[in-house]
Amino acid sequence: MQAFKIYNTLSREKELFQPINAKHVGMYVCGPTVYNNVHLGNVRTFTTFDILYRYLTHIGYKVRYVRNITDVGHLVGDGDEGEDKIGKMAKLEQLEPMEIVQRYTNDFHDVMQQFNNLPPSIEPTATGHIVEQIETTQKLIDKGLAYESNGSVYFDIEAYNRGGGEYGKLSGRILEDLLTETRDLDGVGEKRNPLDFALWKKAAPEHLMRWNSPWGQGFPGWHLECTCMSTKYLGDNFDIHGGGMDLKFPHHECEIAQGKGSTGVDPVRYWMHSNMLTVNGQKMSKSLGNSFLPAELIAGNHPLLEQAYSPMTARFFMLQSQYRSTLDFSNDALKASQKGYKRMINGLRIIKKMDYLPNPEQEIDPKQAEEIEKTIQGCYDGMNDDLNTAVTIANLFNLLKKINQLYMNQLSTAQLGEEAFNLLKKEYIAMIENVLGLKEELATDVASMASGMLALYKEYKEAKQYDKVDQVRTYFKANGLVIKDMKTGIDWAYEE
Ligand code: AMP
Ligand code: ZN
Repeated sequence: MQAFKIYNTLSREKELFQPINAKHVGMYVCGPTVYNNVHLGNVRTFTTFDILYRYLTHIGYKVRYVRNITDVGHLVGDGDEGEDKIGKMAKLEQLEPMEIVQRYTNDFHDVMQQFNNLPPSIEPTATGHIVEQIETTQKLIDKGLAYESNGSVYFDIEAYNRGGGEYGKLSGRILEDLLTETRDLDGVGEKRNPLDFALWKKAAPEHLMRWNSPWGQGFPGWHLECTCMSTKYLGDNFDIHGGGMDLKFPHHECEIAQGKGSTGVDPVRYWMHSNMLTVNGQKMSKSLGNSFLPAELIAGNHPLLEQAYSPMTARFFMLQSQYRSTLDFSNDALKASQKGYKRMINGLRIIKKMDYLPNPEQEIDPKQAEEIEKTIQGCYDGMNDDLNTAVTIANLFNLLKKINQLYMNQLSTAQLGEEAFNLLKKEYIAMIENVLGLKEELATDVASMASGMLALYKEYKEAKQYDKVDQVRTYFKANGLVIKDMKTGIDWAYEE
């Protein structure tokens, strides 16, 4: 097994990854709140954890990857008061909340697929776990760590800390500072301490999403779903919990409190946080108006975009920085990524088609074989160093040099020797496809090919190159299409 080091937000150190159960890894990632389309910033975070999932699987672990869908409880403003994000959208669009949930869950899945992020092993929803959330709330009340107030239930931070809890330890926040920051915030009238957070909220009459509970009709607090779903599927103490940096506080801090409060053990071994995608140094976010959607990126249809970029170009762009640093969007960086991605994929096409060719007259060059082995180890060293994909990519470019030399006959497979050649082929393909999740992007749909060919047809016709014109017609026919040469212009149609 590779010696994989992971930065743990809790210890603030890179630690050697040692799962609780030698071969199995449990990882939980906070999924999206499905009330709008995911933007490119969200994609960065989910891509980070996709890489983690892929890499752990690649080095031999059996990973249970749980990524939830937040479909209730996340309130506008991220606090304990006000409208549910989904409920608000449902009212605005005059739809059922579950129609909103379905629409944006579908969008999320489509985007994940476009960017080649693998589906998780389990994708639980908050509304599917209301019973568990009520049970955990009751458990915390029974333990004296939560109290009911006017139909809502709050987590009692002071009681938790008195019992040895260290609220603030994940985010490194000091209780006193938090108190001054939070003094004027919501729910103060009902809370014993302004820092207490909602486990269960009483539903106001106009609130759409509501369930019966021992405390009356209401809905679960945002942080509770992740505690219930992670421990239900991964156990009271599991390996990795991830999410975007902005979830560290209060979301994950509250999760630790809920988990430790209800089970007595710290829920998570390694806390992992992915940094933000920024635009001109500012976090990409819908509310700041500096976000764009994957669909806009792919169509090049946004004022921030000078051209269209493919999902794999954007994925490559994201992987060129380590996940713990911020990544600033820029057209220049994306254009450079487009080039880099294409170079790397061209290498993939070459090596896939290439086989070892024995040549008894050619001696093996041990230096070449050694260089290949070292460079492959460099790819792993990058991944092992807290998923430093930038280092891995730099090493892959060095492997690519060898592949291109083979392609140009400046180097022969016999010179590398069978073992080194096979290693080069296997690892180059595996690193790109399995670990980094990059794949070939082709305009596979006939429609996009056809529009390109139609432009050619026009050119040939104008130049009176009738043999070529016929060739294009034959191409269309072979694909079940016909060219329509009309007075109004040229178009193609399905052959009837
Ligand atoms: P949300 O649906 O807003 O809760 O976000 C889903 C995930 O995307 C969370 O893990 C956020 O931390 C993450 N996220 C939001 N904005 C960005 C951004 N600009 N860059 C990277 N991740 C982000
Ligand atoms: Zn969460």
